[in-house]
Amino acid sequence: MTVLDDRVDVAADVTPLLLIGGRWVDSGDGATMPVENPATGEVIREVADATAADGRAALDAAVAAQRSWAATPARARSDILRRAYERVIADTDRLAAIMTAEMGKPLAEAKGEVAYAAEFLRWFAEEAVRIGGGDFTRTPDGANRAMVVRQPVGPCLLITPWNFPLAMGTRKIGPALAAGCTVVLKPAPQTPLASLALAQIFTEVGLPDGVLNVVTTSRAQEVVEPLLRGGDVRKLSFTGSTAVGRILLEQAAPAVVRTSMELGGNAPFIVFADADLDVAVDSAVQAKMRNMGEACTAANRFFVHESVAERFAGRLAQRLGSMVVAPGTAEGAQVGPLIDGPSREKVANLVSDAVVRGAKVLVGGDAPEGPGYFYNPTVLTNVHPDSALTRTEIFGPVAAIQTFTDSDDVIAAANDTEWGLVGYVFTQDIDRAMAVSEALEVGMVGLNAGVVSNPATPFGGIKQSGLGREGGRVGIDEFLEHKLVVLPVRPPREG
Ligand code: NAP
Repeated sequence: MTVLDDRVDVAADVTPLLLIGGRWVDSGDGATMPVENPATGEVIREVADATAADGRAALDAAVAAQRSWAATPARARSDILRRAYERVIADTDRLAAIMTAEMGKPLAEAKGEVAYAAEFLRWFAEEAVRIGGGDFTRTPDGANRAMVVRQPVGPCLLITPWNFPLAMGTRKIGPALAAGCTVVLKPAPQTPLASLALAQIFTEVGLPDGVLNVVTTSRAQEVVEPLLRGGDVRKLSFTGSTAVGRILLEQAAPAVVRTSMELGGNAPFIVFADADLDVAVDSAVQAKMRNMGEACTAANRFFVHESVAERFAGRLAQRLGSMVVAPGTAEGAQVGPLIDGPSREKVANLVSDAVVRGAKVLVGGDAPEGPGYFYNPTVLTNVHPDSALTRTEIFGPVAAIQTFTDSDDVIAAANDTEWGLVGYVFTQDIDRAMAVSEALEVGMVGLNAGVVSNPATPFGGIKQSGLGREGGRVGIDEFLEHKLVVLPVRPPREG
């Protein structure tokens, strides 16, 4: 049974409460937290600010629901995910407007994210009924029959960032529910509304109480640490910064909680002399400007062959300089605000540091007048390799260009980072394309492509960009255990 609190704000159409065991409830101490519109700096909503006890209650609800959800036929789990997919698609305009309001991305991009987010629900609805597939075999000595059964890992804690408020949620909820796991979702405090709207959809398409619990909070550590240390969380799936990922790995260690980590990136974008510059520039705009540069997959370090660097930089500057910087709801908006004041200040400081070290500003390099946390699209050339922005996720609309002449040198430079999420390579030589793809220390490569993510393919990084993969056929494995059942081979009884 779903009990809606009578203070549901119909106008905003999102219940600003915690979803625990199928009930929408206030925070235990009645606290709320503001959600700000980064385009205006205004508070658009107050939502419940969960306490540690609320987190515990949410996990208790997930634990209580685990057995029956795991026993629910895969087809029934699949049907619920499929209905959620259909509802998300039907609600595209509303969900996109929510994300634009709380996160800032232009409406057109927000609609794109709704489609992307929904695809994870559809993909994992399809995967739910194909889990079976464990081995049934004889051990090599012939003495035993061995069955490998794939079972849900159990209650999961899902922690998501603010930059893709809906898609980072569905990328975890989809496979977890498909696998038969119950979950507690803790979205980022800047963008709780999309998660609450998604949770509401799940309650309306028949998801049993307690299978999906949502805890919005500004007290992340207070809420999460005891859950991780307590022993009931069987899986932590985290998307966020590498710094926080390290902390959570430590907290997960005492109870040996399985973890998936989708962490930060420092993507190289390499343009060889023989690249198709039209393709390279188009892809650079996508890889740099998607989500205002606030993406883990954002091109962070541009390495352009000396012979084409000036042409590439000039064309990129022209493209970025003509983009419309405006609130995400404005007609034709292409570049919304950054998430908050400190993020904009960080970007501005990175640009200043690069300029002090000799970088040239081709376009941008400043913030427009007026309210909101906007930063103008920026192209820097002559970037010194020691500049802070080569060793930091810029997370803003700044393209920092270095040049190279030697293929081995550029691969070494590209790999000279603790991160390894994605790399982009532009060349028309297939042999070079493959050799460089193989040499890059990353989990994903865009070959003459500026976008790599797709729900049907595995997404994730190596080195300090993460552990595990989301999406694709392997995405559901993160939420499954392989249980071995051994049956000795004995002669049948007489008679
Ligand atoms: P973040 O600061 O690491 O926060 C991510 C989430 O973790 C938020 O919900 C945050 O809540 C929570 N959190 C922070 N400290 C915590 C703690 N001690 N205990 C429990 N939870 C804690 O990252 P962000 O600024 O939201 O997002 C940007 C980062 O995410 C970037 O580094 C980006 O590259 C990465 N990212 C990676 C991927 C990927 O798939 N690899 C995708 C998208 C984003 P609070 O804010 O309340 O602390």
